[in-house]
Amino acid sequence: MVELKNVDVFYKESGVDALRDVNIRINDGEFVFIVGDSGAGKSTLLKLLTGEHLPTKGRVFVNGYNIAKLKKSKMPKFRRSIGMVFQDFRLIPGMTVFENVAFVLRVVDKPKRFIRQRVPYVLNLVKLADRGKSYPSQLSGGERQRVGIARAFATDPGLIIADEPTGNIDPRLSYEIVELLMDINRCGTTVIMVTHEHDLVQYFGGRIINLKKGKVVFDDFIAGRSSASTSGEGEK
Ligand code: ADP
Repeated sequence: MVELKNVDVFYKESGVDALRDVNIRINDGEFVFIVGDSGAGKSTLLKLLTGEHLPTKGRVFVNGYNIAKLKKSKMPKFRRSIGMVFQDFRLIPGMTVFENVAFVLRVVDKPKRFIRQRVPYVLNLVKLADRGKSYPSQLSGGERQRVGIARAFATDPGLIIADEPTGNIDPRLSYEIVELLMDINRCGTTVIMVTHEHDLVQYFGGRIINLKKGKVVFDDFIAGRSSASTSGEGEK
């Protein structure tokens, strides 16, 4: 569960109130789009959720952790409860697709036997079962992002945060990326996707949180143009 209670973030350096009295609750298993213009506070919100930044006022709870009270020693375990998908993919260029996904499992000390089974499973899920031996440079942007999603999901985190995941790929393929995130959401993982692509949001619908100048100006479900249900759990 993700909960922000009366959260303010003030950046002394710029004198900006990046978030103002933000109250958001996202239950386990939800799929939520976060939208807003540049400077609205989206990145700041994500930094709160990953523990990179603390609120100036208010409280932030993520996956059962109170972020402000999180001890440094608990940070790695907390971070592991979140899978991140980045706009610029952040794959390791010298590693194959298989190795990129296996790497995050090795970091958390998963046994070799588990890794040998888990990596093909998640690559199959993102429809890249036959690309394990390829290097990122040999893949299209859409394929790279599918590896990014496989990597985020490999450790089976309760929450996936996708920060503009379609920002660097062919707009036609953006829909596939959201569909994949929705498939993963159907497996029970909470997904929070930040985007400024209104078309995508209008197409899929579901719960939309709109930030404007640091304030939540809309938080509700909308019907998408696709036949997806408003909960984001329906079939396309
Ligand atoms: P978005 O991701 O929606 O573009 P941000 O969260 O990056 O918005 O920024 C919200 C506001 O906070 C902007 O006015 C931005 O200039 C300011 N801001 C963001 N990060 C910092 C920072 N590290 N120091 C000072 N001001 C910042």
